[in-house]
Amino acid sequence: MPSDIAIIGAGPAGLAFAAFLADRGYRIALLDRQPREALAEPQDDGREIALTHKSVRLLKNIGAWQRLRADEISALDSAQVVNGRSPYCLQFDDRSRGPLGFIVPNAAIRRVLYEVVSTQQNVKFLDRTRVVGTTLAGTGRALQLDEGEQLEAALVVAVDSRFSDTRRMAGIGADMRDFGRVAVVGRVRTAQPHGNVARECFRYGSTLALLPLADAHLSSAVVTVPSSLGNEIMALSDSDFASHVARESGDAPGSVSCVGERHSYPLVAVYAKRFYAERMALIGDAAVGMHPVTAHGFNLGLASADTLARQLQRCASLRDAAVMERALAKYQLIHRLESLPIYQGTNRVVGLFTDDRWPAKLLRKAVLHVSSNFAPIRRAITYQLTR
Ligand SMILES: Cc1cc2nc3c(=O)[nH]c(=O)nc-3n(C[C@H](O)[C@H](O)[C@H](O)COP(=O)(O)OP(=O)(O)OC[C@H]3O[C@@H](n4cnc5c(N)ncnc54)[C@H](O)[C@@H]3O)c2cc1C
Repeated sequence: MPSDIAIIGAGPAGLAFAAFLADRGYRIALLDRQPREALAEPQDDGREIALTHKSVRLLKNIGAWQRLRADEISALDSAQVVNGRSPYCLQFDDRSRGPLGFIVPNAAIRRVLYEVVSTQQNVKFLDRTRVVGTTLAGTGRALQLDEGEQLEAALVVAVDSRFSDTRRMAGIGADMRDFGRVAVVGRVRTAQPHGNVARECFRYGSTLALLPLADAHLSSAVVTVPSSLGNEIMALSDSDFASHVARESGDAPGSVSCVGERHSYPLVAVYAKRFYAERMALIGDAAVGMHPVTAHGFNLGLASADTLARQLQRCASLRDAAVMERALAKYQLIHRLESLPIYQGTNRVVGLFTDDRWPAKLLRKAVLHVSSNFAPIRRAITYQLTR
């Protein structure tokens, strides 16, 4: 039977999109190459996701936030930025609004979103399924699946990661920026409590972020180094990795020990040339894949899912080509306006804070000095981090 919407990718953005459409009654096919058990009980992947207030609101609206356990949510009260070898740190917080945001493990977000979607009668999961081709077919789009089967839907939504195969199959190009760096992430226990403060240390040659978790002595360490050093950092013994984290954090957290496994991610940012093609839309990382330094990737992914769902809810019929074209064009416009300044701003921050030549070092100091001494600029940055 044909579907109204086929979603390719049951990651956090794909699941959230299905949940946003729960009340509309569309017949949704949700495809993922992973087995259903892995979607239902996602393994820890080391990512701790900083969520803005808007994202928390969206997750609450679909009943996902309420399913998180208390020990999976930590408040982010303030953020400190340390530059080079300077002991000075720049602080961002907004006491009037409460926490800057909240930090939740990616695996927990995936689990609760899966729980929500698995209660929806209008969603059919097709796990262990890969799409190998797509063609226009009448008033919809046909998907060729790897087992030789075919599926038809009025709209295909690609949410299959920043390296999206579907995006490529649909002939949509993307600007990709390979930073030549990897992020190695792992949990650490610190002697000093983190006080719900995130610490971003832009050293020379490497950066370290310490993100506070629900346990007052537990943080997620995100070490960013040139890709050529990635294997070396992954291969460090626990005590050597802990010493690296202690040193790079300026010894503020006291003694450090490792907890659990480390994971490594290549840092590649992606911005699709278009967010839609005929009867196809891109959302999540498939549309905009961010460098994690400003913690906006999933927040933008959730916003894209929400924006597209709102446009579709206004369509009288998904099969009407003109109506669909208008809805997709409007989605693209809104999501571009929301994401492009953040995408470009993040890439500039990364460029500046990973360039160790002396003009960049001077500019880094100047930027932090200005931000530190002018409250309106600090407030604007805080707003960008938290809205
Ligand atoms: C180290 C790190 C830290 C981060 N920190 C933050 C943060 O603090 N805040 C924030 O907002 N974001 C953060 N992010 C970004 C966030 O993790 C991503 O934006 C988010 O996971 C993207 O979700 P998605 O559903 O679009 O894609 P993905 O999570 O990549 O999911 C894609 C899904 O599609 C499936 N799939 C892929 N290809 C196919 C195919 N061909 N056929 C079928 N299925 C397929 C996969 O199995 C997967 O289930 C971070 C990322 C990293 C790496």
